[in-house]
Amino acid sequence: MKHFDPATELNKLQQFGEFGGVNPSITDSATYTFLQADTMVDTFKGEAEGCFLYSRHWNPSNKYLSDALAAMEGTESAWVTASGMAAITSALLQVCNTGDHIISSVTTYGGTFAFLKYYLQKFNIDVSFIIPTDLEAIKKAVRPNTKVIYTETISNPLLQVSDIKAMSEIAKECGAKLIVDNTFSPMMISPYKFGADIVVYSMTKFINGKNDCVAGAVCGSEEFINSLIDLNTGTAMLLGPVLDPLRSSNILKNLYTLHIRMKQHSKNAQYLAGKFTNETDIRVIYPGLKNHPQYELLTSMLNREYGYGGMIAIDLETVEKSYNFMEKAEKEGVGYLAVSLGYFRTLFSNSGSSTSSEIPEDIQKEMGMSPGLVRFSVGLDNDIENTWQMIKKCLP
Ligand code: PLP
Repeated sequence: MKHFDPATELNKLQQFGEFGGVNPSITDSATYTFLQADTMVDTFKGEAEGCFLYSRHWNPSNKYLSDALAAMEGTESAWVTASGMAAITSALLQVCNTGDHIISSVTTYGGTFAFLKYYLQKFNIDVSFIIPTDLEAIKKAVRPNTKVIYTETISNPLLQVSDIKAMSEIAKECGAKLIVDNTFSPMMISPYKFGADIVVYSMTKFINGKNDCVAGAVCGSEEFINSLIDLNTGTAMLLGPVLDPLRSSNILKNLYTLHIRMKQHSKNAQYLAGKFTNETDIRVIYPGLKNHPQYELLTSMLNREYGYGGMIAIDLETVEKSYNFMEKAEKEGVGYLAVSLGYFRTLFSNSGSSTSSEIPEDIQKEMGMSPGLVRFSVGLDNDIENTWQMIKKCLP
């Protein structure tokens, strides 16, 4: 495969404002004026190039950010949403109709799991949950009405790695769309290049990196993105989870430093994973460790330079031990006891009782998720050895 570098693709874009401002101007309008009435009609029909109609459909700020995301992802198009959940639910509802079937990884973000398991029952959409690394189980789960195979490139919180190419082959064979949540690994992995049909993001996380808003994105073919915002049948257009243009303009500026941040997140996480391995008996999960079951697979999918990501999980065995550790670690200054990830400071939480609490305990057990699992989103710390010394003091 030809070498693809997301950051270089992003840098090829020339996005500047109409008055020459190096940052594109921020859209401050919900609606757009026309000098000729028939241009408005053409815009309604989607036939007036460069014209905007109404901000819920498109606006210039969202278009700049969407174009940048499409360049980074290598997709024809993209659309930005008010949250990651809006991106995920819009994409799924656009592809599926009542009575359809979805095959999904069981290890997804808790909100995604809840939507798939409980909410979609309203539409009589059946979901088969599988372990994402078990390709045979995916093949076995296929039904005549399977419309979507859904996975996270690197799963939350167990950090299992999906074989995107193999999954895309199964999807193509059965006529389903492969939807991949790439929230944990932007720039590191380009799922579209391996055959994913639709890539979704919670931009709340690494892409924005500032923890000052929630936002999401759907990247895919022009045909799919146009269907998503079709005036009559588009899920995003009709349910309306559009991102605010002020936020778009902020996220766009942050996107241009994502490559540097990803490298530092990865470098720090790799360092801590090595320390946990060499200096403690604690079970550590990090896909950049050679003993991780999908280390080779991930290595084969990585875009050069970005490392193995900023997420680590450690198993402190019991909820009590994990709470004790996290409280001490916050006091010590390691970072914050908080959900979410991709922030410049280190964040940590107990997955079972927070971001995965929607997943029933028996399924958590089946997934291999220990009640004492602490998920770290490792920050951009300049002196990571100092951070390790602080962590060490707090361990049981
Ligand atoms: N996907 C993943 C992997 C997540 O971790 C999250 C949130 O934690 C989401 C999606 C949902 O994103 P948002 O909170 O922006 O709606």
